Amino acid sequence: MDQKMLEVVTDLKSYLDYLKRMGIEGLPISGPQTSSSPPSMKTTLEEVRKELGDCRRCKLHRTRRTIVFGEGKKNAELMLIGEGPGYDEDVQGKPFVGKAGQLLTKILQSIHIQREEVYITNIVKCRPPQNRNPEPDEIESCHPFLLGQIRAIQPKMILALGKVAAQTLLKTETTITALRGKFFELEGIKLVPTYHPAYLLRNPGRKREVWEDMKRIEEWMQGH
Ligand code: URA
Repeated sequence: MDQKMLEVVTDLKSYLDYLKRMGIEGLPISGPQTSSSPPSMKTTLEEVRKELGDCRRCKLHRTRRTIVFGEGKKNAELMLIGEGPGYDEDVQGKPFVGKAGQLLTKILQSIHIQREEVYITNIVKCRPPQNRNPEPDEIESCHPFLLGQIRAIQPKMILALGKVAAQTLLKTETTITALRGKFFELEGIKLVPTYHPAYLLRNPGRKREVWEDMKRIEEWMQGH
């Protein structure tokens, strides 16, 4: 076996071992899918990060500068999931630090939540070139690690930011306009989609809807 092939086999083996430890016993035969098994397997963010390693599981590793794993409180009650790192995030290695991130901080503050109190990550951990949408194979490669993060944090609520996050997590092609503001469940955790802050920068007229979604989230969080 040549060196390249050996690397591929070694990577694949460690990935399969990881899935097994996450409680995922089988792989989908085709198409992007996510596990719907409950978060029975206890894990920690450190373990998930370690397993991710210097990830080369999808083509995004070729153009990324940094893996943007996620940031925030380890046992946050509210977890935010965006789409994927942009330029600033790729440079700094932290999620939502650019213009959209600044708006996100303000959105949180509108319901009296500080950034440090939440956990923020993305559907994919590496920047897609030219900020294009992540592709299904890239989303699929990253998904076990996102599930690991959710299982480690066990938040009360997940806020899915934008179409890619909402559609991926809910396994649907329903539009974000139809999904936003509604309460769903993922692995026993409440999940609410809303518009992505980058979309709000381009369409400030939609801010009111996000504000309404955030008010509903605040109300729910106060009662739970
Ligand atoms: N947009 C995202 O979806 N995620 C980030 O981290 C930054 C911008």
